[in-house]
Amino acid sequence: MKYRTYLLLGAPGSGKGTQGKILGTIPRLFHLSMGDVFRALDTRTPIGKKFIEFSSRGQLVPDEVTMELLRAHIGHLVGIHSFKPDIDALVLDGVPRNLPQAKIMKDMIDVRKVFHLSVSDQEQLVTRIRKRALKENRFDDANEETIRLRLVTYENESKPLLDFYGPKKVLTIDALQPPVNVVRDIVTAIVEG
Ligand code: AMP
Repeated sequence: MKYRTYLLLGAPGSGKGTQGKILGTIPRLFHLSMGDVFRALDTRTPIGKKFIEFSSRGQLVPDEVTMELLRAHIGHLVGIHSFKPDIDALVLDGVPRNLPQAKIMKDMIDVRKVFHLSVSDQEQLVTRIRKRALKENRFDDANEETIRLRLVTYENESKPLLDFYGPKKVLTIDALQPPVNVVRDIVTAIVEG
């Protein structure tokens, strides 16, 4: 059985996490942020060290490690009946993040809609990421060079997912609108199914 899934896709700083958290408060929607799963790891473990190694360079953690962690994490959530796949839909934030991951996840998720949080002005993203770094103590957002590398990684590796899922599934939303308008656009699309 595949998990009914909505994807949040957007550059770092586009508001995926904010939207994901809001959507996750709606009954029957289950928010899962891959970045949050990585950040919760014990940094003394081999996988925790891998995360620090790659994220501090603005790069993606290798697919094999990421997919194994994701499967284990979802398995755990199902096991403790936190995520209930028969009645809940997944809202995935930050995964899949490139084409190989999307292909690996094909047998796991039934993607109903992809919400593309679009920011036309790259400098706005940099400003938003800098503000977040101050508030949330995120080392991968701490310096300008890493921020730029994260944005390049998004352009090169994550953006091709828009073509992979295609125009029927992708809804592009202006992420610079007030957050409540972004929520409205996403929720309307989910309701209209
Ligand atoms: P995020 O909070 O989503 O921007 O993720 C922070 C960092 O975690 C990224 O820069 C990556 O190093 C790592 N990461 C998060 N999601 C993935 C993923 N799906 N694949 C590989 N690395 C990821």
